[in-house]
Amino acid sequence: MVDCLRKERIPVLRETDVLVLGAGSAGCAAALAARENGRRSVTLVERYGFPGGVSTQVLDTFYGFFTPGNQPRKVVGGIPDRVVDALDRQGGIFLRPNTYGAGTGVNYNPELLKLTWDRLLAGAGVHLLLHATLVDAETAPDGRLEGVVIWTKRGFFRIRAQRFIDTTGDADLCHFAGIPYEKAGDLEPAQTLTTTFRMSNVDLEAFEAAGGKKILMARMEEALEKGTHPLPRKAGSAHKMNARGCVSTVAVRVADLDPLDFEELTLAEQEGRRQSFVYEAFFRDCVPGYEEASIIGLSHQIGIRETRRVYGDYRLTKEDCLSAARFPDKVLLCGAPIEDHRKARDGTDETVWGYIGDGDAYDVPYRTLVPEGRDEVWVAGRCFSAAHDAHASCRSMGQTMSMGQAVGLAAALSLEEDSGAGAITVARLQDQLRALGAVLEVPNRVARTAAAAWKDNLHTNLKDEPQTLPSQ
Ligand SMILES: Cc1cc2nc3c(=O)[nH]c(=O)nc-3n(C[C@H](O)[C@H](O)[C@H](O)COP(=O)(O)OP(=O)(O)OC[C@H]3O[C@@H](n4cnc5c(N)ncnc54)[C@H](O)[C@@H]3O)c2cc1C
Repeated sequence: MVDCLRKERIPVLRETDVLVLGAGSAGCAAALAARENGRRSVTLVERYGFPGGVSTQVLDTFYGFFTPGNQPRKVVGGIPDRVVDALDRQGGIFLRPNTYGAGTGVNYNPELLKLTWDRLLAGAGVHLLLHATLVDAETAPDGRLEGVVIWTKRGFFRIRAQRFIDTTGDADLCHFAGIPYEKAGDLEPAQTLTTTFRMSNVDLEAFEAAGGKKILMARMEEALEKGTHPLPRKAGSAHKMNARGCVSTVAVRVADLDPLDFEELTLAEQEGRRQSFVYEAFFRDCVPGYEEASIIGLSHQIGIRETRRVYGDYRLTKEDCLSAARFPDKVLLCGAPIEDHRKARDGTDETVWGYIGDGDAYDVPYRTLVPEGRDEVWVAGRCFSAAHDAHASCRSMGQTMSMGQAVGLAAALSLEEDSGAGAITVARLQDQLRALGAVLEVPNRVARTAAAAWKDNLHTNLKDEPQTLPSQ
């Protein structure tokens, strides 16, 4: 794309030690970790006007901190805890109970999370560039990455770096650099796309009194059977938000459109909006407590669950997840179930679940974060190296932030040791992760309540939310 513009004429904007592309949950955590000892310059590039990625564009609940089931363990710590703590200090969160889904969730105000990421990044001295889109990679004749090209309203710029972290979700950097990946949908059906929406003026007491989640599910089935509202599926959730009388939903479902193709993504955005207002009418007409409710906001863009997954030095598998596999080079844990939202062969909608043993979690190896054979580049977040089902488990934000902190520390360590990504001393990385508060061993102790699990090591006013509302 940029070749025709004579890349060598594009001015160099910055030279930096570590360049992080994409300021989602993985990218923000990576940038903070790379700055942890303060010795390395870190630049973080983001195409939109705020950090957070899906955490602030689409959602309001971190999952993955706790294993689900009757014996919950807290398996995430370090920078993700700092983020929760910073949110908690501003009174912006509550804990959502473990319903059928992914374990206790941490509900936050996404607008406050944008501000929180801003403050954490600025406080750590990360050089943040917003409204800057990665459009190309610069490689040496031997294929080694040397820099990138970004597009801004001031034109194209180059940024040169020693180490690169791809946290674009879509593995854009790897794509431009010719690093191999699997594209969702190539081997197995890709997960569906979801526009989330928020409604105000909901009478939650009336909703609960009428049966809560049960009545919602029953009314969805009824609407489909009678054909009163053309809902795309008979499942979906609505959960209360931090603001009084406001509810957030994960219900829309768009399939068979490729989010990496801008023309198909255009259709997906339009379809997601259309479905949102079908749901609005359904809620108002059919669900007690929603009679006066209306949509006050759609997600910043349609939510994309998976696109490119890079081939790394190791590829996490479904068997690794379900058998709670152990790896000597572990850098994070995951106890979240496989949660695969897909269109079934008969065209209907289905969510495939696969649970790890109660209270258990699997290790995620460092090698899943290093593109095969590469020295100067890491991946983290939803483009990490995993097969489709394993990715469907290890995609919650507790884990994407944990991947980010691992690669941020790894990039700084590789500069310190003057070694390639695959040759760093992993035991040192693990020590640094533990020092940061990361959890690398499944705790013996059952977290009595989610809030109690935080009380020991954090400032916290966190309260377990007693109400049982539908989960995601
Ligand atoms: C509908 C939906 C519901 C979900 N529900 C939950 C939930 O309730 N709880 C939970 O924990 N997880 C949930 N997940 C999963 C989780 O949100 C994601 O897996 C996770 O947020 C991915 O984080 P990431 O940092 O890898 O990617 P992203 O959050 O996608 O971040 C990538 C960032 O890179 C930027 N970027 C992309 N391309 C470029 C470029 N070329 N140049 C510059 N910047 C670029 C993007 O703007 C973005 O900020 C859900 C996902 C979806 C889609």
